[in-house]
Parts: sequence; structure tokens; C-alpha cells
Amino acid sequence: MRLAARPVGEVRPEDWEHATAPAEEPGEGRFAGRTRFISLDPAMRGWLDDRPSYLPPVGLGEVMRAGSVVEVTTSNHPDYRPGDHVVGTFGVQEHVVSDGKGALKIDVGLAPASTYLGALGMPGMTAYFGLLDVGALKEGETVVVSGAAGAVGSIVGQIAKVKGCRVVGIAGGAEKCALLTDELGFDAAIDYRAGDVKRALREQTPDGIDVYFDNVGGEILDAALTRLAMRARVVICGAISQYNNETPVSGPSNYLSLLVRRARMEGFVVFDYAKRYAEAAQEIAGWIGDGRLKVKEHVVKGTVDDFPETLQMLFRGENVGKLVLELS
Ligand code: NDP
Repeated sequence: MRLAARPVGEVRPEDWEHATAPAEEPGEGRFAGRTRFISLDPAMRGWLDDRPSYLPPVGLGEVMRAGSVVEVTTSNHPDYRPGDHVVGTFGVQEHVVSDGKGALKIDVGLAPASTYLGALGMPGMTAYFGLLDVGALKEGETVVVSGAAGAVGSIVGQIAKVKGCRVVGIAGGAEKCALLTDELGFDAAIDYRAGDVKRALREQTPDGIDVYFDNVGGEILDAALTRLAMRARVVICGAISQYNNETPVSGPSNYLSLLVRRARMEGFVVFDYAKRYAEAAQEIAGWIGDGRLKVKEHVVKGTVDDFPETLQMLFRGENVGKLVLELS
């Protein structure tokens, strides 16, 4: 799946081109594989814009960048054998040839392959380091997380519960809110589509917010800023409500509460923590193992042709937990 045109606002089907080419043979020091699962990430929208960011934009005519799990079919690489499963940034394509750089062999006996794109992959790492390092979470604090029923948010809330915090999730729709409180152990959930978020936050955070983990930006960030406790930390993880903007991103009008509350707001990019992924994965795997962290995945079965439509699900709030495309 190649990028055919740079989208303006929402991505359209004509921004993509499904191209076919003969599968390459792996030369010396390389392996070939079949893609099993492709990760869908809100950040993909940003990678399509021709503007400076933490990664270069995907070039026109290039295969779309994506994390995926590949099953090795043939190998001339000493470290990989047919049947091995490997996670890496292999792109939206059915067949992959790789020299293994930046790839990681995974054990699909320990966890399902898709989980290495979710709780044990980038979203899990994002939740872990964003909350514990950037958010500097302490036991007994009040945590609010937006995008709470998504890949990152669902893990943020559950880690905060493991750490003995009061956790309030903000998500779209009654069903997602019920999932948060009834299944994932959140103390409260706010349906931002149903009413006044500011008022609901006032009710659910009587002592204010110590850590606000923001996945969505826009009006919800603004509402959360009105409830900061003294020395609060606002973690800027993402701003999905702004990614399809055709006008400049709107900044928070309530930012002066940072001054009044002696609070700080800090953004981060998960890749900066790459050296510590093993530490986080081990701890998250432990919480999954002892039942304190429930993995939510939304698996769409299809082909690479289904990638564009599946990506849009993120922006319509149609996913619950980590969204992946399983190639049949
Ligand atoms: P999610 O699984 O959370 O999916 C996106 C969700 O965003 C949707 O399900 C939807 O849920 C919500 N959403 C969509 N549009 C809006 C809107 N206009 N207003 C409010 N909510 C909206 O995605 P991820 O967990 O993968 O990513 C979450 C955030 O984390 C993103 O902003 C992403 O860019 C960021 N991120 C940042 C990283 C970093 O290193 N800083 C790394 C990885 C992710 P609902 O139904 O509740 O609206």
C-alpha cells in the first residue's frame, strides 16, 4: 500500500495506491517473511504530512510505514529461521524482505503475536514511560486519562490502578465507559460525547487531578486543565482530535492554570525510551500474567486493501483497545 497523494484533512481512499510487484528473494544476510498483523496508529496521520516531525514523512510513492508482525518463510540470515515471528517497522505489505535491523524476534508461545503490537509493543511502552517517567506518578494520586478505551489509554488507566491511584477515564460512548469501570477497574468514566466534561471532571476529581495523561488534545485538554491539583503533571502523549485539522492546531486557552497550580506540561516520544523497552515489557507481562492488566485488542481480518478503511476507524472511535489488521 503506497502513499499516492498527501491528504488534506481526513485521509481519502484516493490518497492510497495498492501496487503489486514480484516478491523479492532474500539475499545473503536477509530473510523473507509473510505479514501476519499490521498495527494501525493515530501517528500514521502525522507521517503523511510533509512537515518536520520526530520521523521524516512517508514519501509519495513509498510503501506506507507501519509496525507489523511477520512470519519468516525463508532465511539466509543466521539469526532467523522459517517459522520465527518477528516484529518491526516492515510497512503495509504482504511480503517482507529484511536484514533484521531494528527487528525483534518474539515468542508467540508466551503471548499472541498481535499483543507485541499492543500491550507488549509500542502502545504498552508509551503508557508505561509516559505515566511513570514523564508523569512521575505516585501512589494515591488522582489520574485522568483521555482516549481511555484505546490502546494506550486502556493500559495507562490499568497501570495507574496497579500503582494504587484513583483513575478516571474519558472516552466516547456509554459502552466504552462501561468497559472501563466494569472490566478494566477504572474508578469512574466520563463519556465526552454525552455532556459537559468540565462538570463531570469536577464531580469525579474532588481533590483535583495530579496526573492528566492526554491522548486527544483540544477541548478535553482544556477542560482537564481547569482541574489541576498543586504540582500536577500534564503528559502530552498525543492529540488525535487535532490530527485531521485543516487549520492550525488550537492550543489550550486554560494554560495559565499551570502557573496557578505550579504544574508542568511535558510531551514525549516513546522511541526515546527504546533502551528500556525490555524492562517495561517484563513488568507489563507480569501484570498481564497475574491478571492485573487486561489486554484489549480490536482485530480486523482482511488484506492490505483494507488498510485505508481500517485506519479511519481510529478517527471515528470505532476501535476498542489496540487496533490491528490481521492479514488472511
Ligand atoms: P487509540 O486506540 O486510543 O485510538 C484512537 C481513539 O481516539 C479512538 O478510538 C477514539 O476513541 C479517540 N478519538 C478519535 N477522535 C477523537 C476526537 N476527535 N476527540 C476525542 N477522542 C477521539 O489510539 P492509540 O492508543 O494508539 O493512541 C492514543 C494517542 O497516543 C494518540 O494521540 C497517539 O498519537 C498517541 N501516541 C503517542 C506516542 C508518543 O510517543 N507520544 C506513541 C503512541 C501513541 P473515543 O471513541 O473515545 O473517541
